[in-house]
Amino acid sequence: MELLDQQDERDERNRRWDEPFGDTLLDPQAVARVLALPAFTDVEAENFPPWLPLADILANDGRLRRVNRGEVIIRKGDYGNSLFVILEGAVAGLGASAAETRGTRAGRRTRPSWRRALGRLFARPTPPEYRATRHNRRARHQAARADTLQGIGKVDVNALMAKSGTFTLSAPEMFGEIAALTRSPRNASVFALEDDTVLFELRWQGLREIRNWSLPFRERIDALYHERGLLTRLLQCPVFDHVGDAALDEIAQHSLFETYGNFDWTQRFKSEIGRRRGTGHIIEQEPLICQEGNHVDGLLLINNGFARVSERVDHGERTIGHLSHDDTFGLSEIAAMERGEHGVTLSASLRAIGYVDVIRIPTSLIREHVLPGLPAHFLKASSGDQSGQAETAEPMRQGMMDFVVDHRFINGENAMVINLDRCVGCDDCVRACATAHDNNPRFVRHGHAFENAMIVNACMHCSDPVCLIGCPTGAIHRTAETGTVIIDDSICIGCSTCANSCPYNNIRMVDIRDETGAIMRDREGRPIARATKCDLCAGQLTGPACAQACPHDALARVNIRDTEKLLKWLG
Ligand code: SF4
Ligand code: SF4
Repeated sequence: MELLDQQDERDERNRRWDEPFGDTLLDPQAVARVLALPAFTDVEAENFPPWLPLADILANDGRLRRVNRGEVIIRKGDYGNSLFVILEGAVAGLGASAAETRGTRAGRRTRPSWRRALGRLFARPTPPEYRATRHNRRARHQAARADTLQGIGKVDVNALMAKSGTFTLSAPEMFGEIAALTRSPRNASVFALEDDTVLFELRWQGLREIRNWSLPFRERIDALYHERGLLTRLLQCPVFDHVGDAALDEIAQHSLFETYGNFDWTQRFKSEIGRRRGTGHIIEQEPLICQEGNHVDGLLLINNGFARVSERVDHGERTIGHLSHDDTFGLSEIAAMERGEHGVTLSASLRAIGYVDVIRIPTSLIREHVLPGLPAHFLKASSGDQSGQAETAEPMRQGMMDFVVDHRFINGENAMVINLDRCVGCDDCVRACATAHDNNPRFVRHGHAFENAMIVNACMHCSDPVCLIGCPTGAIHRTAETGTVIIDDSICIGCSTCANSCPYNNIRMVDIRDETGAIMRDREGRPIARATKCDLCAGQLTGPACAQACPHDALARVNIRDTEKLLKWLG
């Protein structure tokens, strides 16, 4: 109560750590207990800057969770951004299909309620970007957080432990680091093995800070990621489906993680794309992973990010494809070597688009363990082997290929595409968006265009949401259930980091207003800003209002890498 009173005396500007990760701050005894864990013993508090004390990071960005036998802690396929350390008890994990934990809460897409949808429809009009006062927002935020703390559901521990592929972890081991470090979905379901298992959960912002300021911690987490991440990735990749466990272990032991490009690639990209017309300079500045004509040095499996496949034409290069998660490069060349062909070299080059991390697997192991029994559809003529999935996909026209790769729209899982042949410029889509969002649309009908396709400046809910990287509070995040990138308004401090980080300029900073329409100001009289963007109309029964509102079927939300759907819709 005292805490709430103190907060109500403050102005409405959010600040880092206004909202701790748990219900309350971790108390000093709990922090001391966490610091005594082997994971933190060599983290030196004096190496942290005065404005970012280690104890405060743990107290604000950490929380304790107590779970009982069978309670699911994380679920495979969900987006999660926290690391767990076991304080007491034990957990078990299952890397197999998420269907194993079917029936648990996170497996269902949450449908917004009719009551809420009708409430929106008949709500009293409010000024654009109106925000409720801190007290109301806090209650809402706490309700949402309580939901995440309730747990996901329960499983039959005996039945799951009888399955192959389970693993157990006990105090003081860690888990969850792969998803937290890579902004990727959880790759295993984990549930409590014992009653009263106590976990320390550290959200991504705290993990990032401790990793930044403590070298031993960074080395430990990274080693863990390499050790566990490698085998997990191989297990998930379709090209290894027919490979036995022992062979896969051997492959994991001899494979290497490699990274190319810059994790935070936004600024470089923005200046390159705006520099001058033409695409030659964009390809040239992309880090080269393998060069056409060179000998084959292993199979490359794309782990995270995107890579461009190109071939030489005249004095330049032509894009012939792009690769992403689970795609491989070099398989057809290795198969040619296995058939006894001599002088096999790479028939195309591979470059990092922004940032990409790859796993390099020795050629000899691919020949020994992967080629025997490999389904024929994995072996394609070109060097870009797209998991065998692209075989049926309609090939992209060259110009369109250049357009989506050069502008890095291939990152977009839910891009807003307007068919310019059908759009009449009525702006019904923009008005529908405004109605659904504080009377202020979350996009303008504007964007880059090629032929009859315009990719609108609206959040694309990217595979690699670069906007998440620097947010100090974790306000911008992926929802666990749908993977949609959204902003928690109640903890956004208006720092603009995400707006500057989004490579596509799809986040807008807005000044917020009170009920009377007046701009809210902090104690110093400065307007209070918040980040806003498309949230795919979270809470709307019928999905994104923009697409529903268009009377001419001129606007669709599409995954840009689903070329078949995209080209069909464009006509
Ligand atoms: S804000 Fe930008 S980077 Fe982030 S998901 Fe949306 S389009 Fe992608
Ligand atoms: S402006 Fe963006 S980066 Fe800054 S706190 Fe808000 S959501 Fe996070």
